[in-house]
Amino acid sequence: MFCPKCGKGDQSADSYCRSCGDFLIDPAQHTSLMNRVLGITNPEKQVKFTLTIDLVTAIVSGFLLFFLMGYFDAVHDRTGATTPPIVYLVYIFLGLVSAWQLLSFTVGTTYRKKLNAAKKTLDQTDARPSLPEADHKNVVANSITEQTTHNLDKVPRR
Ligand SMILES: [Zn+2]
Repeated sequence: MFCPKCGKGDQSADSYCRSCGDFLIDPAQHTSLMNRVLGITNPEKQVKFTLTIDLVTAIVSGFLLFFLMGYFDAVHDRTGATTPPIVYLVYIFLGLVSAWQLLSFTVGTTYRKKLNAAKKTLDQTDARPSLPEADHKNVVANSITEQTTHNLDKVPRR
């Protein structure tokens, strides 16, 4: 397929463009959920989106946990009513969700950093200056190859 950004042809889909580095999506295979629902096609943006969701759910679950704990503690202090057992289950659930999402975010961020560092190294490698243009004044007219071929025995034609 052709790169929609720079136009370089003869490339396989679901890979990075060899010329400009943009991610090439096969238009016939828009099957990813994020593609269909949110229209996020770039895998790096998908990772970023997932990381954001991880962090937001971790924070929201944490806040909800502390809010509920504070609320039921206050109710207990005020009225002496015992906290219903289901609330403790909700505490556990919220705590687990928060911890899991935070872990997921941390691991994801680490991988993303590694990936970005690798990409940076790759970009620097590609940015190396190309070799200088050939200096035609230095071309040896009577090269070694030409001189030695004279010394070879002639092969008789049959
Ligand atoms: Zn390109």
